[in-house]
Amino acid sequence: MSVRRIGIMGGTFDPIHQGHLVAASEVAHRFALDEVIFSPTGEAYHKAGDGRAPAEVRYLMTVVATASNPRFRVTRVDIDRPGPTFTVDTLRDLRAEFDHDHPGVDVEWYFITGADALSEILGWRDVEQLLASAHLVGVTRPGHELADPGLPHAQVSLLEVPALSISSTDIRARVRAGAPVTYLVPSGVAHLIAKYGLYQQSGAGSS
Ligand code: ATP
Ligand code: MG
Repeated sequence: MSVRRIGIMGGTFDPIHQGHLVAASEVAHRFALDEVIFSPTGEAYHKAGDGRAPAEVRYLMTVVATASNPRFRVTRVDIDRPGPTFTVDTLRDLRAEFDHDHPGVDVEWYFITGADALSEILGWRDVEQLLASAHLVGVTRPGHELADPGLPHAQVSLLEVPALSISSTDIRARVRAGAPVTYLVPSGVAHLIAKYGLYQQSGAGSS
């Protein structure tokens, strides 16, 4: 029986940018993934007018940014689940959804994360459970050291991807300052930022 290889890329995607897309595309190529599922995080507690985009708008930007790639899709599992987002929950919900839609089909799951997020992984909830059910792929990110986090029984791969020194934090600051974000985000995302007047207010620090 054939085995499906599916990548998951979680993030706030506030907004999604070319760094996310290049990382996902490169991992998909190197690991021969059938698809990559982008999962925007649920709504964190922020005060109104704090310079962050609502979950529905982050979801919309992620859909628009990935629309042209037949191997990319976006899930609502984290947005629709109340409370903070934990990766074990993302994986559990996506597995349940896949098993329901494709009974009997085997899946190898790959969880894609940048160097900064990988270095925090030991602090993640239920990291053992996560690694028991998914292969973890850490990708290089400018300004962050990509090091093996030294996990026990780890199924971890480290992968160099084309370096794009782009962060959502920087994009938000650029929008606020009136600097261009063209070419840093897909054009559809730039249009949505303008259409909804996102990131005009201050208080939008790093997440
Ligand atoms: P913020 O500045 O708001 O934290 P971000 O640019 O870090 O935004 P996230 O949504 O936090 O974006 O990141 C989602 C995932 O994408 C994380 O695993 C992160 O490490 C990875 N990632 C983000 N930007 C890049 C990049 N330029 N190159 C490689 N990986 C990246
Ligand atoms: Mg981040």
